[in-house]
Amino acid sequence: MDYISTRGNGGRTTAAGAIKTGLASDGGLFMPQSIPSLEVGEISKLSGVSYPERAAAVLSKFLTDYTYDELLSDCREAYGESRFPGGAAPVRTVGDRLRVLELWHGPTAAFKDMALQLMPRLFVRALRKTGEDKTALILVATSGDTGKAALEGYRDVDGVRIAVFYPVDGVSRVQKLQMATQEGNNVEVFAVRGNFDDTQNGVKRIFSDAGMVKSLSDRGYFFSSANSINWGRLVPQIVYYISAYCDLLENGDISAGEKVDICVPTGNFGNIFAAYIAKRMGLPVGRLVCASNRNNILTDFLRTGIYDRNRDFHTTMSPSMDILISSNLERLLYLLAGSDETAGYMKRLSESGRYSVSDALKNEIGKEFAGYFCDEPGTARTIRDIYNEYGYLVDTHSAVGISCALQYLEEAGEKAAKRVIVASTASPYKFASSVYESLKNEKAPDGPAALEALSRLTGTEITAPLAGLDKKQVRFSRVIEPGDMPSVTLELLK
Ligand SMILES: *Cc1c(COP(=O)(O)O)cnc(C)c1O
Repeated sequence: MDYISTRGNGGRTTAAGAIKTGLASDGGLFMPQSIPSLEVGEISKLSGVSYPERAAAVLSKFLTDYTYDELLSDCREAYGESRFPGGAAPVRTVGDRLRVLELWHGPTAAFKDMALQLMPRLFVRALRKTGEDKTALILVATSGDTGKAALEGYRDVDGVRIAVFYPVDGVSRVQKLQMATQEGNNVEVFAVRGNFDDTQNGVKRIFSDAGMVKSLSDRGYFFSSANSINWGRLVPQIVYYISAYCDLLENGDISAGEKVDICVPTGNFGNIFAAYIAKRMGLPVGRLVCASNRNNILTDFLRTGIYDRNRDFHTTMSPSMDILISSNLERLLYLLAGSDETAGYMKRLSESGRYSVSDALKNEIGKEFAGYFCDEPGTARTIRDIYNEYGYLVDTHSAVGISCALQYLEEAGEKAAKRVIVASTASPYKFASSVYESLKNEKAPDGPAALEALSRLTGTEITAPLAGLDKKQVRFSRVIEPGDMPSVTLELLK
């Protein structure tokens, strides 16, 4: 199966080529040239097997230059008991209609582990398959969750070094501690005196600096990134929607072929796009509900057909969805309207920050997706209500998802499926202060003390990877200026 660009002028490559390069040469994103199919009979068969086996079966349809045995071995390592104790993506019953797909049982307690535990293994194989003999230097700018998940995924991986940069005052104390105590012999972490944009621009500048690229090459290295537009991050996300369906089927909660609706809290449109691909493959899915926080650019887009990022940016208690550029939306436009139309929209977006899709395309999108959003008081209320009603504790991002699923059920009435699968993207303990404040209506203690307080308040256990963070050894405490980013990068190669 070949991979081509969403903008139509990026040539053709293998899956390994797409995973190694990340972005197509015309600036577009890589997509498989066709979407493989998944028969109802296959879904029933997958119901009987483990998560790693489900994953290898789905991945082998997309990554045809990887053998099934390679994929199975990688999936067993990525999603085994040692990294995901108790199962990779369990589904919980919350009331009559909602089925919550918990994606945060990995090493960093957020859903990015689902992709970033597997992608490094696919990446290393891609280096071998493409005959690459240089070492990859992966640079990541992070506002919190991606950096930690990437560090944990790439630690001690042969042929790779990774450096993460985060804005010194732009991440939570827990996130900072998670990164500062990172283990591994090929990792480096820097706090940058600036905001997330300064940090991200710093990384982009290094990537596009010909002098830097040459210095790296002379030392036997090349730059790579781990960001969410890489196909290697998207493809593992398709698996868990299929797996959730298999679980419901196995439990007799649905019958074979019965449709479910899926609701995903998203910013980048990556996680919900993966659910759409699962539907296009043949998974029986009715509506896809796109859940946003107060930064509701996607809700507006789905309702009006106009994508306009000329608007205020809000800092919310679901910070991993505080995004105004939903990069993966480009993949949906491509699938529904083709590469010429997509290239035009993307040109308008970069020139004026805005584009408006054709009526035909707006209608096509509307058949598949519904958009809802949840503001800050709504998020707090949902956390409280779901806890009081069901004794089920959710984080701020998952609460946005649940609120939107409930709004959808109310509005769709009879048209909704019997079951709505809601993606839960982080442990409640990862955003313990906000969750505590939502439940108690009073200020939470700061940092690790908030985790203790939440645990005492609810009688639940602190998610294992987050427990005892304040007792771990701090390995990285360097704070640098944005202008120092190139020099510290070169220092790494000595
Ligand atoms: C990254 C993240 C999201 C948003 O994911 P998308 O890639 O934008 O779909 C949601 N919740 C949490 C906790 C995250 O870390």
